[in-house]
Amino acid sequence: MSDNIERLKCVIIGSGPAGYTAAIYAARADMKPVMYTGLEMGGQLTTTTEVDNFPGYPQGVEGPKLMEDLKAQAERFETDVRFGMVTKVDFNKEHGGIHVLEIDGSKKIEAETVIIATGASAKYLGLPSEQRLRGGGVSACATCDGFFYRGQDIIVVGGGDTAAEEATYLSKICNKVTLLIRRDELRASKAMQNRVFNTPNIEVLFHTEIDEVLGEKTVEAVRVINNQTKEKKDIPVTGVFIAIGHKPNTELFDGILDMDANKYLITQGKSSKTNVPGVFACGDVQDHEYRQAVTAAGSGCMAALDAERYLSTIE
Ligand code: NDP
Repeated sequence: MSDNIERLKCVIIGSGPAGYTAAIYAARADMKPVMYTGLEMGGQLTTTTEVDNFPGYPQGVEGPKLMEDLKAQAERFETDVRFGMVTKVDFNKEHGGIHVLEIDGSKKIEAETVIIATGASAKYLGLPSEQRLRGGGVSACATCDGFFYRGQDIIVVGGGDTAAEEATYLSKICNKVTLLIRRDELRASKAMQNRVFNTPNIEVLFHTEIDEVLGEKTVEAVRVINNQTKEKKDIPVTGVFIAIGHKPNTELFDGILDMDANKYLITQGKSSKTNVPGVFACGDVQDHEYRQAVTAAGSGCMAALDAERYLSTIE
């Protein structure tokens, strides 16, 4: 490689709780981490409102504020936070090999270790009214936002395990949950389906989709459409939870790193190690199971520790 190329000990890709926590630990271990934030600086939490379940904030904290705090903590130990996208990776499969990353389609950098914390994105339906009311009653995370709908009527969309789990969780908080299924059956496991069908305040509507979310600044109702009869009706609700799956942000690593059938990165055992030495993964990009800010942060810590131990074997 040419002398002009910057050589770094540790590059972190992604700026959610996993990335920032990895940065805090890597910086304190004198790995001089450089973080490339991606376009959505701060990750998924920047699109939520109040976060009540992150330890250490007894009064709760706004998602964007939590991410600012994490960034400030990472920068306090001199993490170099750079706004930019990693657009291509060329990983070296040799132990101790140098990995080459392309930034914003042009600049190249070299890294001894890479920590991937690119997260996952909730899928949305894509309706303009749904997008307009995100944060105003439309959410993709029952554990994050369910509490705000205590005693109210809400809608959950989706028929997979996530939707079934969210509907059951919300049924304990809300007055009534209407679950919209676009086909004539749920995809969720039988056990999860049984829980849904045995919960008295969950009503399941089959062959039903959202036509439009109604409301100016906050959700007031949802116009649903029966996709067989084309009949429409308005259901008065204050919240809409979209639970149609998540998409891990792994396109960059397609064909390069081991992934499961849903394109989540596979890490080895309890570690953050990928199949390439010196490349680690943490947070939602490798976890479809828990998907919480605090679990992502915990796995970010693990990735930094794994990277530090790896570096000690090659130095
Ligand atoms: P899935 O892909 O399994 O399910 C998505 C659901 O959303 C399906 O019912 C699908 O309908 C529906 N859907 C998709 N697009 C639309 C749309 N545009 N309009 C209406 N409905 C739509 O995603 P999940 O997040 O539920 O699960 C992902 C993985 O994680 C699965 O493997 C699941 O088993 C696992 N998981 C396990 C849990 C557990 O074991 N506790 C908890 C949560 C997830 P259709 O069926 O018609 O395609």
